[in-house]
Amino acid sequence: MKAAQLIAHGAPGKIELREIPDPQPRTDEVIVQVAACGLNRLDLWLEEAGLPIRILLPRTPGGEVAGRVAAVGANVQNWKTGDPVAVQSNIFCGECEFCKRDEESQCLSGELLGVVRDGGFAEKVLVPQRALVRLPAGLDFEASAALTLAGSTAMHMLTDRAQVRAGDWVLVIGASSGVGSAAIQIAKQLGARVISTGSTEVKRELAGKLGADFAVDSSKPAWPVEVRRLTNKRGVDLVVEHVGGDVLPKCFECLARGGTIVTCGATAGRDISFNLWPFFVKQQRLIGSYGRNRKDLAATLEWAAAGKLKPVIDSTFPLTETASAFVKLRSREVLGKVLVRVS
Ligand SMILES: [Zn+2]
Repeated sequence: MKAAQLIAHGAPGKIELREIPDPQPRTDEVIVQVAACGLNRLDLWLEEAGLPIRILLPRTPGGEVAGRVAAVGANVQNWKTGDPVAVQSNIFCGECEFCKRDEESQCLSGELLGVVRDGGFAEKVLVPQRALVRLPAGLDFEASAALTLAGSTAMHMLTDRAQVRAGDWVLVIGASSGVGSAAIQIAKQLGARVISTGSTEVKRELAGKLGADFAVDSSKPAWPVEVRRLTNKRGVDLVVEHVGGDVLPKCFECLARGGTIVTCGATAGRDISFNLWPFFVKQQRLIGSYGRNRKDLAATLEWAAAGKLKPVIDSTFPLTETASAFVKLRSREVLGKVLVRVS
């Protein structure tokens, strides 16, 4: 089969379309014929050797897979050839204390698809059957590939790690990102008043189209002042954050008493400092969020099929141009998701 493989780290690294042997399913494994696979920051971190994990090359990146079951192992009962599926990209063991209570995102021996095992920028991908989620009727592969990872990350943040009450003020950082574009829509569906951020006019317009009530210009250093003004100096109840670096301390400036920041990323930097005095006086919370549980992924796809959550797709590349898709995502001028269409 054909696979776009990372053969040397760098920014850009060296990604080549290679002919490699077809994967073969063991007893509880499934081969998925990939239809489409979304790109994420995780793929860029892999490319740049920026993950705190030892990576063996060559590696096929790609964790946001949608496609059809192409072959099943001897013990696979619930899936058959042709079934349309999405893949839970944090492949979990199914046996540890966290998996046993359906918190697969906390799995003690989780494996990231496309990082520590070969992912979806290939004609076929091999996964354990427990990683599959059935695509609901009416949801196409590209919509699924645009929401499976980033959309379900947002769903996990807003409905599992944190909660939204109708009428809450929610600040969503980065309207044009995969997580941000989904989080705006999810927060609005839950009845929140939503403020988002964008560094350009086009990104702020996108925030409005997705339902945000306000969009502030994050290229201005004092943007938190604008968030406080919009909320009558009160601040927001919840911040959905995925950037880290100097953005996270600014989110505290936007936060109301009793408010919560939920964060799932650190693109702009992993080490931060913030003032603990207002944090405990105002009884605020900072919550980490990582990946998703299968129920978050199922909910994301159901919402998408019901028209409650729309994918935002910036561009789609054929498998032969996977390296160009990486360049596009790195340009940071993307509005929504970059996808690779495989078949
Ligand atoms: Zn586990």
